[in-house]
Amino acid sequence: YDISKIRNFSIIAHIDHGKSTLADRLLESTETVSSRDMEAQLLDNMDIERERGITIKLQAARVMHKSKKDGEIYTLNLIDTPGHVDFSYEVSRSLAACEGALLVVDASQGIEAQTLANVYLALENDLEIIPVLNKIDLPAADPDRVAEEIEDTIGLDCTDIIQASAKAGIGIEDILEAIIEKVPPPQVPEPDSPLRALIFDSYFDPYRGVVVFFRVVDGEVKKGDKIRFLASGAEHEVTEVGVMQPQQVPVTSLQAGEVGYICGSIKDVTDARVGDTITLSSQYKAAASEISKANGNKQIQEIEGAVPITPLPGYSESVPMVYCGLFPVDADDYENLRDSLGKLRLNDAALSFEPETSGAMGFGFRCGFLGLLHMEIVQERLSREYDLDLIVTAPSVVYKVVKGEGDNAVETIVDAPSKMPDLTRDIKAFEPYVKMEILTPSEYNGAIIELGQERRGILKDIKYLTPTRSTIEYEIPLAEVITDFFDQLKSRTKGYASMEYQITDYRESDLCRLDVKINYEDAPPLACVVHKDQAQGVGRKLVEKLKELIPRQMFKVPIQACVGVKVIASASISPMRKDVLAKCYGGDISRKKKLLQKQAKGKKRMKTMGKVNVPQEAFMAVIKLD
Ligand code: GDP
Ligand code: MG
Repeated sequence: YDISKIRNFSIIAHIDHGKSTLADRLLESTETVSSRDMEAQLLDNMDIERERGITIKLQAARVMHKSKKDGEIYTLNLIDTPGHVDFSYEVSRSLAACEGALLVVDASQGIEAQTLANVYLALENDLEIIPVLNKIDLPAADPDRVAEEIEDTIGLDCTDIIQASAKAGIGIEDILEAIIEKVPPPQVPEPDSPLRALIFDSYFDPYRGVVVFFRVVDGEVKKGDKIRFLASGAEHEVTEVGVMQPQQVPVTSLQAGEVGYICGSIKDVTDARVGDTITLSSQYKAAASEISKANGNKQIQEIEGAVPITPLPGYSESVPMVYCGLFPVDADDYENLRDSLGKLRLNDAALSFEPETSGAMGFGFRCGFLGLLHMEIVQERLSREYDLDLIVTAPSVVYKVVKGEGDNAVETIVDAPSKMPDLTRDIKAFEPYVKMEILTPSEYNGAIIELGQERRGILKDIKYLTPTRSTIEYEIPLAEVITDFFDQLKSRTKGYASMEYQITDYRESDLCRLDVKINYEDAPPLACVVHKDQAQGVGRKLVEKLKELIPRQMFKVPIQACVGVKVIASASISPMRKDVLAKCYGGDISRKKKLLQKQAKGKKRMKTMGKVNVPQEAFMAVIKLD
């Protein structure tokens, strides 16, 4: 162990710019993993991640590298970060565990919004940033232009920028040497300082309990130690401590600057949340009793502002920002759904859920997520890993409703549109806003500003990064972003624009609840909250969309959108014609079977409202109106 020979770094990149490929290459070239054992993209080890080519869970890997320059062997700890805005808190914690970052930019594409957002996070954490141009093997690569862009936008010196191809294995040695040379070693802690280790990830293993990934900042942790998590207050005995190569290999102890994992029959990830600080129980108790003595033997809890061991900075608990309802298609699956959500929760402290019952939908759960991608991942895992057929209601943001004024004001959280009360002079509604940054070829500025206007965006700034590329900054309601904003942005810019956002605050808005009636019956799961000025337009589009999506019945089905008691838009689904029915029941037997099978399958994802079968797509209509 020699702290001056440790380098902790991560890789930041826009999706598809080659982060995973480069990580694999670094591991392979240093023979951490032999090429034969090498499964493509080692660091992304969840199916969904691999399929979508995104990184969701953080992982880490320790790489030993002999420097060509001084012949010394260095320990390089690569800490991977998730590549999506929903997980920016996790990204910030894993960056906080590093001293440096490789900034990987596709030399045929240039800087994207996500790259910038991650660079800001890295700068906030005082990381040394090493820019790398990747994919220089591509004919479309334009290293000079992209290097200039990096200089202009981020202000990094790019004179000697590394040109690499993770795919072709070009520049890998240069990258390793640059990490050793430019990334500073971890700070040497004060002698005898108590253990402080930063958690940057944790997951639940059915055999060993929660496995916690961390970076030691001060002190040392060994097998058999009793540890304490400062934020949660939980205490556990360490049954195993080890490093990731990237498979987990036990070691005897880990010291300041090192990166590794522990297990200790921890049953709940909420005991060991990302961002929390690990210390030793004995050191905590000793420090606490000293404070207690100095305060006339008062209990530590009773001494105001007493902090036996200062937690590492930056801890925060994740707050769900997007909610949706999950209902089993088959009521018998309710228990199964509850168990499955419980199991996912073991791994995912950010997921929240509580039972929700509704006349139309039956028994289900109202679930809270960090954002849209987080929601999709959970839904996908429920259907894939737990084989559940679910009806999912449209995602909605969390509103705050304040009743009364001043000291008498009562605030309630509204996590489902159907629970939004009618606003009066006495009741005010607040909605979450985000700060959004869009990066685009400048020729699309006009199209983007138009989109921003349609979505209640407040244009804050337009900057020309280069003569042909711009950043556009908006403040915009989150509710407008979780609809098809991203799809619209892509389609209006031919796929060239990218965006990134961060939730900033709650602002008062003139909102109203838009109810949907099917066959004159209320359909609360289809209700939505909109700005008053948009109610008419949304109502009209919504009924038209529902008319398309709800299959015809034997009878005419009226669909109405209402605000309060007022019907603001309506449409009706005309009844099935006789010949349509005839077609269904005619034809040869195998075709008929197929049709029946198809119908049976189709039935799976429906709920009955107003005597009408409402298919899954209809529940999502409200977020896809354009
Ligand atoms: P990530 O999303 O940043 O992790 O990107 P990946 O590592 O998954 O790479 C995205 C795509 O780019 C994959 O199809 C890779 O094979 C490809 N790719 C990565 N690096 C290179 C490179 O240096 N050259 C070329 N031509 N393709 C690359
Ligand atoms: Mg990846």
